[in-house]
Amino acid sequence: MSSFTAGCYPPALDDDLERQHLVQVIKDWSVANGLTVRPPPSLAGNDLEGILAVNAPVTLFPSPFPKGCFEEARSIQTTYNELYAHISQDEEFLSGLVQEVAGGDDFIASLWDVHLRVKAEGYVQNLALGLFRSDYMVHQDQGELQIKQVEFNTIASSFGGLSVQTSLLHKYLAQTEYPFLKDPMPESSLDLPDNDSAQGLAAGLRAAFRAYGESALGHPTCVLFLVQDGERNIFDQRHLEYALQADSIPVFRLPFSQILAHTSLNPSSPKRQLLYHPPHNPSRTFEVAVAYLRAGYGPSDYGTPSAWEARYRIERSAAIACPSVLTQLAGMKKVQQVLATPESVSSSPSALRRFVPDDDRFAALWKTFANIYPLDAASPAGQEARRLATDPEECKKYVMKPQREGGGNNFYRTAIPERLQEIPPEHWGTYILMELITPPPFSNIILRNGKLEQGGVISELGIYGTCLWDQQSGRVLHNEEAGYLLRTKGDKSEEGGVAAGFGCMDSCRLV
Ligand code: ADP
Ligand code: MG
Ligand code: MG
Repeated sequence: MSSFTAGCYPPALDDDLERQHLVQVIKDWSVANGLTVRPPPSLAGNDLEGILAVNAPVTLFPSPFPKGCFEEARSIQTTYNELYAHISQDEEFLSGLVQEVAGGDDFIASLWDVHLRVKAEGYVQNLALGLFRSDYMVHQDQGELQIKQVEFNTIASSFGGLSVQTSLLHKYLAQTEYPFLKDPMPESSLDLPDNDSAQGLAAGLRAAFRAYGESALGHPTCVLFLVQDGERNIFDQRHLEYALQADSIPVFRLPFSQILAHTSLNPSSPKRQLLYHPPHNPSRTFEVAVAYLRAGYGPSDYGTPSAWEARYRIERSAAIACPSVLTQLAGMKKVQQVLATPESVSSSPSALRRFVPDDDRFAALWKTFANIYPLDAASPAGQEARRLATDPEECKKYVMKPQREGGGNNFYRTAIPERLQEIPPEHWGTYILMELITPPPFSNIILRNGKLEQGGVISELGIYGTCLWDQQSGRVLHNEEAGYLLRTKGDKSEEGGVAAGFGCMDSCRLV
């Protein structure tokens, strides 16, 4: 057992009354401070007036996380931001990777088509905004602890709002409750880092809003959040909206399915300004400075051809898209695989080296990569991966991922060969094969839907980053690290997404 999981933490909490008391304190604090989600379908049926909010699932105690790993992850975020800004600008690189997966992946093919249509008529907005999140797990190698990247998100990186509240909840409990438990924990024994992810993400949106400038048409400008219908994680988004509105920036929410109905492109100017017509006040028109997508990251938002027309409207408009299609595609798992495939295995020079020529910065990122393989039939790495993925024993060390976001899309261990049997071998290359990271489990208690789950858990750290750059000149106008997210799940559970229902919100106790 490594040092960071040793010792009797968290406290046993084996007295019923004491446990119930702590749970009640957490329930009340969460509702009072917006650490909440809309109710799950099982409860929502009774909520005809749409008034219910329930506690987001959380741990009763902040989970231990190695301080060195935490600091390392934060310190490399601006380098990661710049790397992904560079990748978004390299259309040729992305085009090659899209070709490799698009044959078996209509969604990626359709996204690429949107880009090609806009390219043909010419982009009218060169600025691009990324609100990124780089996710890690701690890998233990002969006693050494090292963060390994799970994935890099370039679209709809969520939980920046709720994660601030989770840090504040645990800080509050450290002041008011933990010191007075039967097994007391003095506040001074807990190293709980500050977390400003909502402010950090809002700062990125604000930078883009300001860079857009005033409306040449004389309209007020705004930030438009494009969201999913019936979004349960709405309060996470609201925290960002409130942070922007506190700066007197007009913010609106528009379901992705209503883009065509409530926006238009200014017909009298070649600049293609995106105009927003609020359905609640048709006499007002706003010019959209920033279109922030919290939807549109997966096929389920594109059930009709008009949804693709909606995405096309956003992409060809003058609004600064967060993200643009190219930036979204930079977040493909295929990109991460190509960056992580070492020079000796791949026939071409390491892609990471090309994007990050500086030795120190290259080494800092390289250290965070786990082994990731392509699954094509041609390359030596792909052939090796095909052998590993179809071997009944070897496959147990891997996860296989398609080019998808939002959780619930991956295949684990023995499900990998089963899945491969269902698809023609010429389409296996639409997936990547990644070594499983196995962080040392520790113990914690999760409060979910009013019930406690106690046992072995593992955590995934996310570091937010914001970057605003010019696609043509490459100039970076804003590049910041923007706070953190800790999600924790049972050590037997494979997926970890909070929204997907597997993981829960947590904060770090640095050790
Ligand atoms: P998504 O974009 O859908 O969130 P991820 O790559 O983050 O896809 O995978 C979803 C979840 O699967 C992660 O949050 C993590 O819990 C688990 N996972 C993914 N890759 C690995 C890995 N290499 N090792 C261990 N767990 C993983
Ligand atoms: Mg993702
Ligand atoms: Mg993920």
